[in-house]
Amino acid sequence: MSEMDESRHWADVIAENVAATREKHIIATGITPSGSIHIGNLREVLTADGAYRALCDAGVDAELIYIGDTFDPLRKVYPFLPDDYAEHVGKPLYAIPCPCGNCANYAEHYLMPFLESLKELDIAPTVYRAHELYGNGDFVPATMKALRNRDKIAAILEEVSKRAIPADWSPFNVLCESCGRITTTQVTGFDERRETVDYTCDCGYAGTVPVKGNGKLTWRVDWAARWGILGVTIEPFGKDHATRGGSYDTGTRISREIYGYEPPYPIIYEWIHLKGKGAMSSSTGVTVTISDMLRVMPPEVLRYLIIKTKPEKHIDFDPSRIVELIDEYDRATGRARELSQTETSLRSDIPFTHIVTALQIASDPDGFQEVLRRSGYAAFDMESVQRRMENALNWLALYAPESVKFEVQETLPPVVESLTPEQRRGLLLLASGISDDLTASDLHDLVYEVSEEVGISGSKLFQAIYIAILGKKSGPRAGYFMASLDREFLLKRLREAGRE
Ligand SMILES: [Zn+2]
Ligand SMILES: [Zn+2]
Repeated sequence: MSEMDESRHWADVIAENVAATREKHIIATGITPSGSIHIGNLREVLTADGAYRALCDAGVDAELIYIGDTFDPLRKVYPFLPDDYAEHVGKPLYAIPCPCGNCANYAEHYLMPFLESLKELDIAPTVYRAHELYGNGDFVPATMKALRNRDKIAAILEEVSKRAIPADWSPFNVLCESCGRITTTQVTGFDERRETVDYTCDCGYAGTVPVKGNGKLTWRVDWAARWGILGVTIEPFGKDHATRGGSYDTGTRISREIYGYEPPYPIIYEWIHLKGKGAMSSSTGVTVTISDMLRVMPPEVLRYLIIKTKPEKHIDFDPSRIVELIDEYDRATGRARELSQTETSLRSDIPFTHIVTALQIASDPDGFQEVLRRSGYAAFDMESVQRRMENALNWLALYAPESVKFEVQETLPPVVESLTPEQRRGLLLLASGISDDLTASDLHDLVYEVSEEVGISGSKLFQAIYIAILGKKSGPRAGYFMASLDREFLLKRLREAGRE
């Protein structure tokens, strides 16, 4: 790869690779709404959206679509479901009651919050639900073709995936009229003219139903068929589908040989690892939901977290380090703006780290603004600060490591007894050196001057300051921290702690 490629964003490189291949590009993404849709899943959507925006920026006609796989069956009773969901295993997600009782069905229960999060992230795909596409009859011609070409498809699957295909295998799974399951039926015949299939079910039922709306193609055939039906030209998918003999390989051959459609340009993406817990997955419960994340960081930062890394590299995500991530985003704003040109939210000029510190110093919202002013932020956009304030409060409550949390002690903490004579002298000297006009960085420099004067290291004096004010050995950046405190309180405390 040339240096120039390295310096360009991956999405622009993809856009350039595919731009000339078609008049219009349709970028597809889809997730089975069988459980909470987490930020691991979000990578797929943001990757698709990244490619979509890059194509739009390059002046190419493009559309982003999202397919909710609502016709997929419930595979098992997941740990987060009540036991009585056992009776629904094997039924399509759209036909199962919702776990909370307030949504249209099981699929919507997980789909709705996800689609809401997409709005916040300023992603607006055309949304399809698989059971509606099948119900409308959109898949009927592809299904009849698959039934006619059953042997040819079975041969492709065996050849590419090296798996034996059972003699009774059918590319179509019928939805049983009696028990409502889609995983327990066998196709026994079909009528080309009437567009119906005959089937038997493990529940003992046997019947004949129209293909339209009464079943779906099996996953590997469904994926290939939908490319042609929806005109998909670009699709990101997880590395599990990209293995040799995997569903993209079989899909490619089925698409070309059965449906005469050139498969989409693949964008293979890696997983997001949750710090200390491994790859995120709905079925194992190792997840952070997208709405959880939007409580602790602005949407543009969540987008930045995922889009800044090339899809083929995994992302380590550590919720306890969100402060650093947000500050990094702010520093990289020029580039971030380039990545999300339609972003509507405001960027704050106050580092998130400072907001986290100020919130812990202040006792109420008025006090919070006062703290910001004292530390040198005379004018700021209250709306953007307000949003970050909410993020910071949630983060402190949910993910902040103990090392970041502190409380200003209202009275002199007993632990000041541990201070050495030099540290005490340092605190007294510091107090006498602080005048009203000193800024955060002046205060920072002053700590070093004083520590030299009393013959201890800077870090020893910083420790003494934290002990005097917080009752512990560490705290936020000292210059900014001291500047944020009420000056009278600060001087009084330094003198108290410095006295024998
Ligand atoms: Zn619900
Ligand atoms: Zn049945």
